[in-house]
This record gives sequence, structure tokens and C-alpha cells, in this order.
Amino acid sequence: MPRPTAATQTRFTPAGFRSALLGWYDGNRRELPWRATRDPYRVWISEVMLQQTTVRTVEPRWRRFLEKYPDVEALARAPLDDVVAEWSGLGYYTRARNLHAAARRIVEDFSGRVPATFEELLSLPGMGTYTAAAVASIGFGAPVAVLDANVERVIARLDAFATEIRSPAAKRHLSARAQELLEPARPGDWNQAMMELGALVCLPRAPQCAACPVAAFCAGRVGGTPEDFPVKRPKPPMEEVREVAVVLRREARVLILQRPAQGSFAGMWETPRGRVDEAEPVRDAVVRIAREQTGLECTTGAPLLRLRHVVMRTKIDLHVWSARQDGGRIKRASHAAHEWTLPAEWLERPISTTQKEIARFLLDGRIPRRAAPVEESPGQPDLFDGE
Ligand code: SF4
Repeated sequence: MPRPTAATQTRFTPAGFRSALLGWYDGNRRELPWRATRDPYRVWISEVMLQQTTVRTVEPRWRRFLEKYPDVEALARAPLDDVVAEWSGLGYYTRARNLHAAARRIVEDFSGRVPATFEELLSLPGMGTYTAAAVASIGFGAPVAVLDANVERVIARLDAFATEIRSPAAKRHLSARAQELLEPARPGDWNQAMMELGALVCLPRAPQCAACPVAAFCAGRVGGTPEDFPVKRPKPPMEEVREVAVVLRREARVLILQRPAQGSFAGMWETPRGRVDEAEPVRDAVVRIAREQTGLECTTGAPLLRLRHVVMRTKIDLHVWSARQDGGRIKRASHAAHEWTLPAEWLERPISTTQKEIARFLLDGRIPRRAAPVEESPGQPDLFDGE
């Protein structure tokens, strides 16, 4: 196939470009449930869920969330813990807390109606420029361009934009360019079309230029290596850490701690857990972490599970061990509250995906699919029951 040259690039005109992209979007867009509505509340929930979570995961969860909280008032009335528990499995729980806080603000300050302007939306807790632009344009037809990773990539390739993408200068340029390209007559569809092009055609590693509706306008394609854009500084290497989770049992109950209201995994209930140095045997770390986090002295039991997972740029190798309390009184260290609870009750509370796997294992012995083999003979969920 002949390599594209400058001669094969059509002179850019906003009208030609917009017509090519919207024509493609109208005929090729995915039918997603949130695209069947312009209700700003529903659009807002979908946009928040879709940050950091795949479309496939979001589809059923979006429906379920809206069945439970069909409008802003219902969300604002709900206890925060219920909303966070409903968010379980979607990750990045601050999103749920912010949604709840924003719903309350909308009820107090905007009579329960999602505000219609970009500026008012931006004043709500947790509302960033991307979400405010998406809700304003899709829900209210406001001519505000969105700029997410898909749109950034598309524009960087269209313009063969050679500035490092995370620099303030690049952000300013891309933001202004996105606004310049926007089709003012159909801003909601336009924004979704730009994102859809990035999600389906202008893929990060393998852009499908041969199938691209705007290939004729693309300077990155003309250069022959569109995948060189956007220009990015290499990411720092992933950090690898070992952690221990301590399952302290009291008959059928297990000790769980509630994380503080601020910070990562805010308000979630979890076993005592902490990092382990490379040199420290996991058995010793179980005793140390139980003492540091709860004030309790304990005897190490057996390894129950080993779970490997990734949080942001950290690979975590989590060793879950049972332990028996020997003495001491619970003191509050870094946690906000503690309880001896049944695994089934624990599962009803705000809980992270990994801790949910531990609770399920304690409840019915279910071993998560992603569990790695434990290094010593594994224990049973009820190891210390009846002792
Ligand atoms: Fe992306 Fe290729 Fe289309 Fe350019 S031509 S926008 S690089 S898919």
C-alpha cells in the first residue's frame, strides 16, 4: 500500500471535518443505554462511572444504580454508606462519595435540578472539567468541548502535535483546539463522536487509519507513524510491594477496622493490613501489623489466601493470614472504628474488591479465581473456630 504523503491530505475545513465525523458517528456509534437519554442526572452518573471503568462493567451497574437511586433526590436522601456499598466493585470510591455530596448540594442549592451551565456544574463537589463539559453538552446542549484521553489522542494525531502531552502548554493547546473543532449545533453528539473515534478507530497502539472517517484531514497519518502521537514521557516503573492482611477471629466473627473518612478507600471496612519489608518473614509481620493497628497481641495461624492485584502504579502481593488473639485491648490507631462482625454482615458494608474476596472466603470458602498459591499449607476459613 503506498505510504500516505502530504499530497493525500485534504485541506482542513471545519465544516468538512465535522460533517465527516458526525456522519460516521451517526452510522457507527455503539448503542449504549446512556445514549438513549438526555436526562442530565443519568448522563452524569454514566460519565462518572465510565471514568476508570470499562463500558462493559458500567452497563449493568449504571442500570442498577438508577433503579436504586432514580433521581437526584433519591441519591441525596440515601445514607452515604449505602451509596458506597452500591459502588462496590467499581473502584475509586471517592467517586461515589463525591456523587453523594454533589446530589445533596443540588437539592440544597438548585432545588433538586442538575444545574445547566458548565460553571455551575463545576462548582459541585468532585465535578471536574471533563464531567462538567460532558453533562452540560449532552444533557443541556451547551457548546462546551470535552477533553479526555481519547480526545487528546485524536487531536494530537490530527495535528501531529509534538509537545509532551502532560505539559501545561499541551493541555492549553488541546483544550483550545477541542473547543475550536466543536460542532455548535450538536455539541453533545460531537463530544461523543470525538470520544467514540478514539475508542473504536484511533486506538492507542494501532490506529485504524484505513477505516477512519477523518483520515483525509490527519497530519499524523500523513507522517506515516500516527502512533508516535501523543508524545509522552515514559512512565515510572511499577512499584512492587508485599502486604499482609490479618484475619483475627472470635468464633464466627472477624475483626474489621473502618478507614478514616478522608484518603484512599475512605470509610471502608477491612481487616488489619500493612506493608511488609522484603527481609521480614510474613509470619512475623502478621503479629507486628495486628499489634500496630489494633493493640492486640496475637499468635499467627496459617496462610489463607494470596491475592495479587494492582492499585494505580503499585503491584501488591497480599498475603492473607489467620491469627488468634492472645491478649491486649483494642486501641484506635489509624482507623476510625472497629467491630467484630460476621463475614456476611461485613459484605453489606462499604468494602473494597480485595477485602470482599477475603470476606467471601471466610463466609463459604470460595477461593477467588485470581488467587495465587500460598507458600505454606493453607488454612481453612474457620481455623480458630471452637478453640
Ligand atoms: Fe487517528 Fe489514523 Fe484517523 Fe488520524 S487517520 S485520526 S491517526 S485513526
